[in-house]
Amino acid sequence: MGIIESDIARAAQWVARADALIIAAGAGMSVDSGLPDFRGSNGIWTTLLPAGMHERDLGAFTQGRCFADNPREAWRFFGRALDICRDTPPHAGYALLRDWAAGKRHGAFVYSSNVDGQFQAAGFDDARILECHGSIHHFQCARPCSPTTWAAPSAIVPARPPRCIRCGGPARPNFLLFSDPAWVVARTNAQRLRMEVWRGTAANAVVIEIGAGVALPAVRMFAESLRLPLIRINAHDAQAESDSVLSLKGRALDILQRIDRSLATCSWVARTA
Ligand SMILES: [Zn+2]
Repeated sequence: MGIIESDIARAAQWVARADALIIAAGAGMSVDSGLPDFRGSNGIWTTLLPAGMHERDLGAFTQGRCFADNPREAWRFFGRALDICRDTPPHAGYALLRDWAAGKRHGAFVYSSNVDGQFQAAGFDDARILECHGSIHHFQCARPCSPTTWAAPSAIVPARPPRCIRCGGPARPNFLLFSDPAWVVARTNAQRLRMEVWRGTAANAVVIEIGAGVALPAVRMFAESLRLPLIRINAHDAQAESDSVLSLKGRALDILQRIDRSLATCSWVARTA
């Protein structure tokens, strides 16, 4: 069953009336750019794996200790993942969200569980993004010796794994893996603080939750905790729990484009009224 066009129109109305957008993005947002969910395996990795690696090898690279256990193999995998993230242009849905935000008094804040940096690549202000699981574009000490994080180097050579800029020990990407007490939360905490300050400025925000699954519910829990009108775009788990949640079952890019077409009609009506 497809979505009713009136639901799309209602979503467009919510977006049109808001003075700010809170964009809560999960893996489903990245998937439409062709990027996998780095913390789970949805099979997409089969086409992106380094030569000689198999999907069955992936499990080891979801564990925090992989950089200590087998740094060369871990970097062969994550070095390639970093290249893929850098080389993959964000899909058109990001630009639509940016356009919508540009017309809002308080703009937008992004809360994303994706570590791929697609919102920054799409031109969103880095100071208005919270990456709740960290980012592949930032590195930290694998031990860690300090809460320092730094920008990922331009190229990774797996035979000479990256080193911590403070102690010279093994380095790793600054994102959360499973069983991962060594993840440095300092950068994400600073982002969280900026979001709290920003949230105080918007009086009439709408939350657009996109592709956030129920298996790793961080983004969904965040979106619901705001207690604001919530537009939920999800291909698999589109159920709504309350009247203030408008659920649109479908893929991120497709639904964003449909809302955008409806928004264009709204503003045309407004101009000619
Ligand atoms: Zn160190």
